[in-house]
Amino acid sequence: MSGRDDPFKRASVIVAHDGAYPYDAVVPPIVQTSLFTFGSCEEMASTYRGERQRYVYSRTTNPTVRLFEEKIAGLEGADDAIGFASGMGAISGSVLAFVEPGDRIVCVKHVYPDAYRLFETLLKSWNVSTTYVDGLDHEAVAAALPGAKLFYMESPTSWLMQSHNVAALAKLAKANGVVTLIDNSWATPVFQQPVTLGVDIVLHSASKYIGGHSDVVAGVAAGRVDLIKQIRTKICPYLGAKLAPFDAWLLLRGLRTLPARMQAHEAAALSVARRLAAHPRVAKVYHPGLGNHLPAGLSGTSGLFSFEFDSTVDIPAFCDATKLFKLGVSWGGHESLVVPALVTRGQAAGPNSALDFGVNENVVRLHVGLEGADALWDDLSNAITGSTRR
Ligand SMILES: *Cc1c(COP(=O)(O)O)cnc(C)c1O
Repeated sequence: MSGRDDPFKRASVIVAHDGAYPYDAVVPPIVQTSLFTFGSCEEMASTYRGERQRYVYSRTTNPTVRLFEEKIAGLEGADDAIGFASGMGAISGSVLAFVEPGDRIVCVKHVYPDAYRLFETLLKSWNVSTTYVDGLDHEAVAAALPGAKLFYMESPTSWLMQSHNVAALAKLAKANGVVTLIDNSWATPVFQQPVTLGVDIVLHSASKYIGGHSDVVAGVAAGRVDLIKQIRTKICPYLGAKLAPFDAWLLLRGLRTLPARMQAHEAAALSVARRLAAHPRVAKVYHPGLGNHLPAGLSGTSGLFSFEFDSTVDIPAFCDATKLFKLGVSWGGHESLVVPALVTRGQAAGPNSALDFGVNENVVRLHVGLEGADALWDDLSNAITGSTRR
């Protein structure tokens, strides 16, 4: 594959329903209701018999939520999607739909810490085991897959931005009859469409780029119609972590600017990453866009990356000295953020766990927001100068 996809190629999906809203409004209404009434007992009975499809109760589904699900399915090139109250709701709801006691999951290293903890605490106590593999080592993945129920991926990963060959790994899983899931929060469907690469289910923390304004916690799973139906019927009614109408409306608003925001995050983050790579106090930059070509499957890069200082920089002093980069977890919003690995590393999983992130204490993660690369660079370079030990 040569060249790059047009990030705006999928914008038509986002605006697809415009003009069809009540009063010809360009923005959909928030159908802020828990229940929907029936016109007659016969209408209610036939709905319950499954002969009629209509809205009943918002824990199952709601028109505003449904509109968001349809747009995500369209953006991901998937048959269907289902919204959740958080990214972790999407992850746990999807995983639980496909595993039973005695089953085994194969998982790439360095996944989101709470996904790892889901596998190592709750699922372990239910006799579901997890094998961790290096996603760059295809032989190790191939050796681990036979007999597994699920293959759980995250690419790029969200600390070292390790990028896997998603299509090749999905093919290996398919050959072993293993259902594949991927956390696509980093790239978004603007820069990576895993379903088109052979993945069965795509997961998002919509709290990140899809929402894009740091004002909503939400999640979504997209994929093959039968698999999404399994999540919808086997898990959602009982665990109930369904997306709420107002949150779906915020996400629909966020989607409007997703392609434009992703281009802006990409350009600013690349500019900052290149300047960091040339800085004498910086030992290494972890950004998948700095090589001669992008990793297979990615058509662009987002605003989240990390780098490693040399030993002369006082990292807590650096983090305290930045003004535009605020100290905080999460990412994907308009604002720039900084997180030092020395704070989150121990909390992530404990020093001996498989989830050591592979990061050392000199690693710092940045989310490059929409403030503009030059202002952000001034902030970073001043903070580095002010926190270098002499
Ligand atoms: C934040 C995050 C999640 C969890 O999403 P929530 O919406 O916070 O539950 C999952 N995966 C990745 C990569 C994340 O960054």
